[in-house]
Amino acid sequence: MRKYIALIFLLFLIPTISEAKDVKLLISGSEEKVDSFKEKEIHYVSFSEIVELVGGTLDWKILGHSIQYLEDTNRFEFVIGSPYIKRNDSLFNMTYPSVYKKGKLFLPAETFLRFWDEVIFQKIVWEPETETIRINSEYFNVTDISCTQKANGLLLEIFLTSALAYDIFVTEGNWINISIRDGMLNRSQIQSRMNSKYMYKLKTHQQNTTGQVSLRLKRKINKWHHELQNNPPRIQISIADIDFEMDTIDSQPTIGPDNKIDVIVIDAGHGGDDYGAIGQKNAREKNISLGIAKELAKLIRKDKQFKVIMTRDRDKTISLEKRAQIANESACDLFISIHANASPKKHVRGWNVFFLAQAKNDSARSVAQFENSAFLRDREPENSAESTPMIDFNDPILGIINEMIMTEFQTESHDFAIMVDREFRRELKIPSRGVDQAGFFVLNKVYAPSVLLETGFITNKKEEKLLKSKKYQKQVAKAVYKAIKRFRSKYESN
Ligand SMILES: [Zn+2]
Repeated sequence: MRKYIALIFLLFLIPTISEAKDVKLLISGSEEKVDSFKEKEIHYVSFSEIVELVGGTLDWKILGHSIQYLEDTNRFEFVIGSPYIKRNDSLFNMTYPSVYKKGKLFLPAETFLRFWDEVIFQKIVWEPETETIRINSEYFNVTDISCTQKANGLLLEIFLTSALAYDIFVTEGNWINISIRDGMLNRSQIQSRMNSKYMYKLKTHQQNTTGQVSLRLKRKINKWHHELQNNPPRIQISIADIDFEMDTIDSQPTIGPDNKIDVIVIDAGHGGDDYGAIGQKNAREKNISLGIAKELAKLIRKDKQFKVIMTRDRDKTISLEKRAQIANESACDLFISIHANASPKKHVRGWNVFFLAQAKNDSARSVAQFENSAFLRDREPENSAESTPMIDFNDPILGIINEMIMTEFQTESHDFAIMVDREFRRELKIPSRGVDQAGFFVLNKVYAPSVLLETGFITNKKEEKLLKSKKYQKQVAKAVYKAIKRFRSKYESN
């Protein structure tokens, strides 16, 4: 009996012991070995050795525990012990931390190789069953794109190795999205066709066997026509010239080293039929958010370097989609949504700064659910939407779009959230609940760095009183204004 118990223990122990062994690396016809180990079912592979085989350079900054990887036009940054990596200035989470061992950098195979695959010229596949990494450049069947101006419009061509089924859909902000079934994209080739004469953005996304190419064009997409052509196989899309978007001559609405941070959209949460949260003394969130928004607009308007747009400046019902549309049409550089929080627990107090990402904890999720409920109400007149997810992540198309937007401005949004947090700590006398991330519909649809501010708990008697006061509203506005200036000087300079 005792022997059995010992055996069972042993069986449980084995998989958690980290065992060193090699994984196979198949690259251009040859088979190589790469050092690896397994910890808690996670395969770690020696990235140091992979780099030697694939190319690029690893730049160690051991004192700071930080490592840079440079390959072609891509730059990755790792911090030993952290799951976060920076890829060309965007922040990603590998779920598992990077590890320093035997003088080498080890990375979680499954999650890291995916991020790498998105930008490297070759196709990288990790096969956990056979513990093999496959690196292959003859894998793609969506090989290239081209964009040319014709007499009456723009001709977009997507080159394939054989005929494939596809869908085209146009989304807000002059995005044209081409989703190709069983299409494996040569992403780096396609991405190299980014042409600022015709487009603001060119994105590629591979989700399983569906490849998607998305272009944000500099013109309105009113009329378009598409067909599949042969010799060579390609999808042809003609977009007729009707009117060019005004003011688009080489001015990009995205932020960057030579772009100005000058258009700020202030979004007063809720309004009209949508009261938002309600306090013990019946204060309504919609009035508080508007009060703060107006104070903030007043402050920013004094500074002639900014242009302020408010999604609403009075008590008016306005959908979350409409708010995002206002922001996108203004090509804003910052989007700030103002709210007051609520909790069934009356003692809960403090402010929060949220930036867009998938909620990482339950409390952030519940705030997001409440703030998204206006969107759900629009969709579900029966009001039975208790547990309806705010975004259907199972819808592949929505999933792709959302993921694109979510990662695009995440670094800047996070950065701005931290700046607001710092100013709030200085200016506001109530406790901080800190910076957090959550999936807000209104932020999700805005193509700009954006934050959502929960400026206090309306359900807490003390804070309800504060939130209603002009003095507090002015303090919040002042802090946000300071953060905006900080953000401008960081992203506009240099
Ligand atoms: Zn709200």
